[in-house]
Amino acid sequence: GFGRIGQRVGELARAFNQMSGRLNQVFVMQKNFSHNAAHEFRTPLAVLKTRIGLFRKKRDFRPEAVQDFLQIMEGEVDRLSAMVSSLLELTNLEQMERGERLSPEQLIQGAADELALPAAERQISVLVEVPPCTLTGNERLLHRAVFNLLENAVKYSPTGGSVHVAGRQADGVFRMEVTDQGPGIPVELRRQIFEPFFRVDKSRSREKGGVGLGLSLVWEIAHLHGGDVRVRESCESGTAIELTLPASEEERGMP
Ligand code: ADP
Repeated sequence: GFGRIGQRVGELARAFNQMSGRLNQVFVMQKNFSHNAAHEFRTPLAVLKTRIGLFRKKRDFRPEAVQDFLQIMEGEVDRLSAMVSSLLELTNLEQMERGERLSPEQLIQGAADELALPAAERQISVLVEVPPCTLTGNERLLHRAVFNLLENAVKYSPTGGSVHVAGRQADGVFRMEVTDQGPGIPVELRRQIFEPFFRVDKSRSREKGGVGLGLSLVWEIAHLHGGDVRVRESCESGTAIELTLPASEEERGMP
């Protein structure tokens, strides 16, 4: 009857509104993203432009002056390259194969080994405790996600601090928790830190060579694998970030 049709039309209208709302959200996010990206590229470019202008004007060709000039140029170019690489990584994620079987223990230990040198330079100890188990996913991406979390823990740790990485698997979920003794993340920013280019303290992050894409990459990789990442706990004396990933199907007892 007419009532049924009216009901269907009502449902369709609701679905349509929901869809356009979601599309709108995507457009706003993309606009923000481009806006932020453009701003981030502008800074190193402005530094390059100013320095080149100064060099041209001063005409100081003593070897030390030339060395200084080149070093600043190189630093800014490295920064731009790092941004381009991270942005490219963020855009190609969906096409990546995700069927590799891998050991989180090896993945995490591998990332910790790569960070051994920067950690040792500041007397930071990194303790990894992960039981043997299996995950299914893209090894390179999951390595990147784990590495970024450990890198931040080391980067934001005080000299002499300790970083703890604990893994466990239960109820079909693998959980990794990275705990550090860094400055913590304010409660109201605990979601925003996973957005592209967001940094709690721009100058502190910049000093440490960050471009603000590390955690958004972790977030994208976690979600691409059906997992999640969040700040589990944080105060002025440290942070615990938790990455969860579905365990591989065999481990969940599926055929
Ligand atoms: P960055 O390149 O700046 O490190 P990220 O995306 O990795 O960018 O992190 C975003 C921001 O979140 C950082 O600038 C920093 O302010 C904050 N942050 C990330 N990890 C930690 C941590 N372990 N302790 C304190 N702050 C952190």
